[in-house]
Amino acid sequence: MSSMLMACGAEKAATPKIEDFKYSVDKFADIEILRYRVPDFEKLSLKQKEMIYYLSEAALEGRDILYDQNNKHNLCIRRTLEAIYLNYGGDRESNDFKRMTTYLKRVWMGNGIHHHYSEDKFVPEFSEGFFKQAIESIDPAKLPLSVNETPAMLYTKLEPIIFDPTVYPKRTNQAEGVDLIKTSANNYYGDGVSQAEVEAFYGKMKNPNDSTPVSYGLNSKLVKENGQLVEKAYKVGGLYSSAITRITGWLEKAASVAENNKQKDVINTLIQFYKTGDLKTYDEYSIKWVEDLASQVDFVNGFTESYGDPLGMKGSWESLVNFKNIEATKRTETISANAQWFEDHSPIDPKFKKEKVKGVSAKVITAAILAGDCYPATPIGINLPNSNWIRHEYGSKSVTIENITEAYDQASLGNGFAEEFMWSDVERKRAKDFASLTNNLHTDLHECLGHGSGKLLPGVDPDALKAYGSCIEEARADLFGLYYMGDPKIVELGLLPDKEAYKAEYYQFVMNGLMTQLTRIQPGKNIEEAHMRNRQLIASWVFEKGKADKVIEIVKRNNETFVVVNDYVKLRTLFGQLLAEIQRIKSTGDFEGGKLLVETYGVKVDQTLHAEVLDRYKKLNLAPYRGFVNPVYTLVKNDKGEITDVKVSYTEGYLEQHLRYSKDYSSLPTYN
Ligand code: ZN
Repeated sequence: MSSMLMACGAEKAATPKIEDFKYSVDKFADIEILRYRVPDFEKLSLKQKEMIYYLSEAALEGRDILYDQNNKHNLCIRRTLEAIYLNYGGDRESNDFKRMTTYLKRVWMGNGIHHHYSEDKFVPEFSEGFFKQAIESIDPAKLPLSVNETPAMLYTKLEPIIFDPTVYPKRTNQAEGVDLIKTSANNYYGDGVSQAEVEAFYGKMKNPNDSTPVSYGLNSKLVKENGQLVEKAYKVGGLYSSAITRITGWLEKAASVAENNKQKDVINTLIQFYKTGDLKTYDEYSIKWVEDLASQVDFVNGFTESYGDPLGMKGSWESLVNFKNIEATKRTETISANAQWFEDHSPIDPKFKKEKVKGVSAKVITAAILAGDCYPATPIGINLPNSNWIRHEYGSKSVTIENITEAYDQASLGNGFAEEFMWSDVERKRAKDFASLTNNLHTDLHECLGHGSGKLLPGVDPDALKAYGSCIEEARADLFGLYYMGDPKIVELGLLPDKEAYKAEYYQFVMNGLMTQLTRIQPGKNIEEAHMRNRQLIASWVFEKGKADKVIEIVKRNNETFVVVNDYVKLRTLFGQLLAEIQRIKSTGDFEGGKLLVETYGVKVDQTLHAEVLDRYKKLNLAPYRGFVNPVYTLVKNDKGEITDVKVSYTEGYLEQHLRYSKDYSSLPTYN
């Protein structure tokens, strides 16, 4: 083969340039859907591309699992709405039909009937009458009917679940003083199971002397059978078997093209876990996964994050397939190489520091597919595994997803937000010059060092902070990053170009935490989500503690509220002080201390300010939340049926993508 031919081929397949790429795909309710590029996919080897293809298929096969985990009626509702969308013969231009379509788009965005972020059930804008008539007008064979169920019965069953705001109001309830299990709409626990029963059930399993405990409850639903509590494991032959069987089938193909034996072993151990449901095998897999640093292609696939369970045990299914962005990874390698210096100089009590920070691996990745709880809304960084002892003994893998950040940044340029909310041109100029860089760096520090720093005192239960654990942990990681961004060491290491740049992140963080993140909250509501609570906690705490010195001021100009930062050096000191306190709470398992901090600073919303922010934001006509569509990967084969390439395309729309996923990747029964 001539090199010219190869160059030609590479050119044809090349990732579109930023300026040619249309990031915004769709807009509805409070959501904007973006597309992301997969730069340098074409530079991967054929084997790597093939592997990404198989892992992507494995990722998409898990989609239904999350719907069912989020609420037991979600699959029935999604399938009913999709059947109406595809088969309705009445007026498709009517307001009711259009509003139902918007509702369906929201269901896809939330992986169910609850908002992906606020976790409140959304309010439908189409009428019950339309819904009834639509269900009864289409071919019953298209509807997800149970045995002996008629379309009329289907309507009667779904009507309150969709339309009655008091039925399943909250996906994951974190409110104080109620039974968190019984008042949460998700499906991690069976009917009639109470919080006290769950706590007793898992409390009995936990042995305080076990230094390598499995993640109890991670991969099962806890149900009551004949008055007895039993775990139904998610595995081949267990709950979600049909989807998991397909996942393992694709994983087997991926293992056959693994980059090296270590990676093959990682994938095979995951398959073993899916087949047995044994949490010890899951830990084995996690250890092998965290130790595989050589492979360029990598993935998350499984029951991973426990934010969806009010008690923080059950893992929601997710997948992220990715490959290393080699150029950008140099930045995080610098951070990792200096991990011990950061740990040693951290402003926390020495007895909570790690003597030796191990295995902080850090890389910048390019996402190739997002699935389960990473789709359509996705994180911009991840740090796994979650098991505390594995993190302590083997370290964790920490990644930032640069092509997703790129999509956010590019889609936000010039949308009027900075003009409306920032105090002056000084802050705006800093944001323009440095915000993309400082955002990435803060995420890197949060993921690479923040979560991995510090230690629990011997005998402290990792779950001691209970419902406040996630918020405190996020605050700890954020503060670690904030504190160090203002350190001269960062400039010395070449991570920021000058000693002013960090102010871009400080200003944005404080403005967001005190004010602009309220754009994501419904009027009259308080803050529930852990990351948002953390941001308000940090911002309000430093505001209050710096009040006497006017470190931060909240100023009115023409009846509009602004955040002004007067003293960035003192602000950094305050971040350090709060980090020390939060680390103390974490290290000693001080539940009351954690609760007090979160409830005092992180939860309550100033209603007057909230109304103003919503009003100003509304005028900008921006969507407060963003989700993504995935690219489409296609195998290219020659006459002999051999795979010669994998093509990536960026043309599929939001609606088309979800309808295709529901057709091609939907093996679970409507009720599980
Ligand atoms: Zn985090």
